Amino acid sequence: MNESRVTIDEDDRYSRLKLIGWWDQDRLRESRVLVVGAGALGNEVLKNLALVGIGHITLIDFDVIENSNLSRSVLYRADDRGKPKADVAAHAVRDLNPDVSITSINGNVLTQIGLGLVRSMDLVIGCLDNREARLWVNRMCWKVCTPWIDGGIQEINGVAKVFLPPDGACYECGMTEMDYQLIQLRYSCPLLKREDLLQGKVPTAPTIASIIGGLQVQEALKLLHGIPTDHGSAMVFNGAANQFYKSGYQHREDCLSHETYEPIIESALNHQHSLADVAASLASHDAGAIESLQLDRDLVVSLDCGRCQTSHDVMRTRPEVSMNESVCQTCQEPMAPNMLHVIDVDGPLADQPLANAGVPDNDILQLTTTAGDTLFLQLSPHR
Ligand SMILES: [Zn+2]
Ligand SMILES: [Zn+2]
Repeated sequence: MNESRVTIDEDDRYSRLKLIGWWDQDRLRESRVLVVGAGALGNEVLKNLALVGIGHITLIDFDVIENSNLSRSVLYRADDRGKPKADVAAHAVRDLNPDVSITSINGNVLTQIGLGLVRSMDLVIGCLDNREARLWVNRMCWKVCTPWIDGGIQEINGVAKVFLPPDGACYECGMTEMDYQLIQLRYSCPLLKREDLLQGKVPTAPTIASIIGGLQVQEALKLLHGIPTDHGSAMVFNGAANQFYKSGYQHREDCLSHETYEPIIESALNHQHSLADVAASLASHDAGAIESLQLDRDLVVSLDCGRCQTSHDVMRTRPEVSMNESVCQTCQEPMAPNMLHVIDVDGPLADQPLANAGVPDNDILQLTTTAGDTLFLQLSPHR
């Protein structure tokens, strides 16, 4: 036996964890993890992150708690029905472990998470039930090189995937034609979201949520400790046959997710400032004058009726506009969205707050200069 002994402090809630040779509680206390989704999988992931003492968690979910969640979500109680999942889950995490600081965002990951927030994270854990949101998280993580761990469950089967941008295959590299079609299905012509399609109604047992959620957090622990992990591949668990296998993805040269934002300039301005403010702040920058802002999210400026020529102002991003509201009140015909992807410095929106054009808090702007160069400018948090 070695002479050196580990002293066990029985007052330390982490004393058993610290007996694991490579365990570094200080590292975990300093860690920042974004959890996307607080359904069955998100509950298991959050429970584990709380138990091991991850210091800083940000959680986003747009849903409220329903009866059907109670059979699969350890953090929810019957009294919580009707309350936002993000807020209730955050409260339960604080109750489980007061050492954890958790921020809840009751909102949509497609529209309310700025790239600066993703960049500030050590990793992102996806607990999602649809491909569209996974693809969005994948692209955000690639842009700012933040590792992410995806999880998916159905009935008693599940899959976990680790991605380490900018290296190796990404989530989109593993997408099939069928996956793209399933995403498109939710956007009928004229490109607005259909409300009538079932979402998040995948049948799942709480047992597979425990297995996959456990696997996701275990991979997270390895990443946070610098222990090598398999990445760019799927870890698949077939619950009926008790088969566990790994399936590698090929890095696809034509994949659209591999764009990275660098170098990133940090700005004291926030999304309540305007593009004109941003351009003025960069006037002395040697990269040249700013010409325009490339929007990450298509902005629906208005809905226009081709039949009776009426037009409604909208000014919301495409994921925030549903098919239901695109029916003309005057003639009942479907209206066409008038969309904007670029804001010009000398255009009509240049003096408005960036938030009005759908730029979320703490986002990173993609700016084009008059010389044709691209600048990446990170806005400061506003709230
Ligand atoms: Zn890819
Ligand atoms: Zn009309």
